[in-house]
Amino acid sequence: MNALDDTAAARTAALVGLARATRGFMPDDEGEALMAAAADAGQAGGGTFVEIGAWCGKSTVYLGAAAEATGAVLFSIDHHRGSEENQPGWDYHEADLVSPEDGRLDTLPHWRRAVAAAGLETRVVGIVGDSATVAAHWGTPLAFCFIDGGHGAEPAWADFNGWSPHVVVGGRLAIHDVFPDPADGGRPPYELWCAALASGEWSEVSECGSLRVLRRVAPPRS
Ligand code: MG
Repeated sequence: MNALDDTAAARTAALVGLARATRGFMPDDEGEALMAAAADAGQAGGGTFVEIGAWCGKSTVYLGAAAEATGAVLFSIDHHRGSEENQPGWDYHEADLVSPEDGRLDTLPHWRRAVAAAGLETRVVGIVGDSATVAAHWGTPLAFCFIDGGHGAEPAWADFNGWSPHVVVGGRLAIHDVFPDPADGGRPPYELWCAALASGEWSEVSECGSLRVLRRVAPPRS
């Protein structure tokens, strides 16, 4: 390794440390696998990455590290009001994220702090809004797309149908919370992954925990 490689490795290690310390649900090994998948997808340079579902910015920092390393830009899409499973009375509710102003979840301030602390504000663009609406107006081909938004059937399929067609041949689609055993978690992400493989448009690249990474091998059928 030369000095430049040393500098890049130190920066990546620092970002991994920040990502690990950022609030969220992604295990460390899956986060690093996600980062590696995006870096792999972006190796041609100058690519566009999208993540759907950012919460407080943990996956954003992992993916931002890959974007920085490859000269890509990450668009991080979230309404920042939490998914169904984050609302009061559900398993993944965190009461301190409720804004006292309006009684609604608001993860955006946490996300902004995480991105700023990581020094990724020139590399990561936050889009605050409904992912399906953004997808319907999106036109930029994607080197990498990460689906980790609402885990119910309706939002999960809307994300898959809205975003996966934008991934270029050779690009990667990553899906989080894929649980083949229903005892481990909800079905929709697993069903997206099965449908993607069955379509013949995708081949499996890697898996780590509940993270699955696919590579587009054929253009979308429209
Ligand atoms: Mg997840």
